[in-house]
Amino acid sequence: MPVMNDYLPLARFSFGMGDRFGHQGRAQLGACVKAAALGVDFIPVWNKSNREHAFIGTEPASVRAEADAAVEALGWTKPYHVDADHIRLETVDRFIVPSDFFTIDVADSIGKPAAAADVKAFVDRHPELVGSVSIPRIDRPFEITRAEAERVANTFLLAAQDAARIYRRIRDAKGAASFITEVSMDETDSPQTPPELLILAALADEGIPLQTIAPKFTGRFNKGVDYVGDLKQFEREFNEDLAVIAFAVRRFGLPPSLKLSVHSGSDKFSIYGPIRRALAAFDAGVHLKTAGTTWLEELIGLAEAGGDGLDIAREIYAYAIGRVDEFCAPYAAVIDIDQSKLPAATAVNGWSATQFTDALRHDPRNPGFNPSFRQLLHVSFKVAAGMGERYLSALAKHEAVIARNVTENLYERHMKPLLAGP
Ligand SMILES: [Zn+2]
Repeated sequence: MPVMNDYLPLARFSFGMGDRFGHQGRAQLGACVKAAALGVDFIPVWNKSNREHAFIGTEPASVRAEADAAVEALGWTKPYHVDADHIRLETVDRFIVPSDFFTIDVADSIGKPAAAADVKAFVDRHPELVGSVSIPRIDRPFEITRAEAERVANTFLLAAQDAARIYRRIRDAKGAASFITEVSMDETDSPQTPPELLILAALADEGIPLQTIAPKFTGRFNKGVDYVGDLKQFEREFNEDLAVIAFAVRRFGLPPSLKLSVHSGSDKFSIYGPIRRALAAFDAGVHLKTAGTTWLEELIGLAEAGGDGLDIAREIYAYAIGRVDEFCAPYAAVIDIDQSKLPAATAVNGWSATQFTDALRHDPRNPGFNPSFRQLLHVSFKVAAGMGERYLSALAKHEAVIARNVTENLYERHMKPLLAGP
């Protein structure tokens, strides 16, 4: 078994954060600075997908520039990374120079059959994955017939081959030791079962020094709001996933830093406890990926500032409420908006700053909190993009109040419960 050692190592705890408009890098890094005081390092990873760049009209190099500037301004001396999020072979090229973390999205290839000879060769190569397969710390063995192993191979082998093509393109361009590889499967229809996570064997066969894998977990990971699903089942599956990863590292020679990546990880307050307990039990790390939660803090900060800031926040809502169906359609799988709970634009135009921030800020104990209002604004960032300079200059003008909200949201509501508990 060849041991993989040619890669840029990723720390045990890493925190992905997105910044649609590129103004909150310092405030986001400020949350990592505060987290260091808890005695654990959350290594910052700035992520932006090709899709987001297209919506906002930005280039991947802008994320590198923002990260470098934030690190310089705060005197951050630990590692930090720039993640080309959800890239594919046809979109990777312009990310290669500015990024050192690549989230290779193979969702489109999952379920498409690989060449029959490749499937046969894979199952022949892995007799340990057929029969009664015991994975330490999973209480019952998996009984896997050859036919089932072939089914799993047929579901995932092409995806692993695809990931390898993308990995090699990046490696050949910038050198294996200069980047981190993640493979994401979260944007698929059904969650992967622990035996299906043995796609890790196929990724190892391809020589990919994988350090994070983003499975689709059970339950709903709606944008910007809490987890919806069976918490007990989530906890059991998360623990089983950790067991499979530990097994795969030993059995297939994957990097010892390999860990789970939780996408749409912001605002999932009810699973942070189960995740924290599982990580402690397995002595494991995690990558938590967030993005849009920071854009909502920009809106909260603008509203809190009052005056022209509050005007912009109300205007964005008024525009969005007029186009609910259009705005929500692309996100149907990742939002649950109750349209009857959406206030009319005329009502919101009469709201005070506090009424607006109470409805928007993710504090479920606040009686004014309105998750439908929050989710609609989550998917409405294109309205702000359309405002152009007016929006950006408001961000600059109200920087102090916005930054306070951005830092507090990431630190108090995300990093602290994950690392230290409530
Ligand atoms: Zn994702």
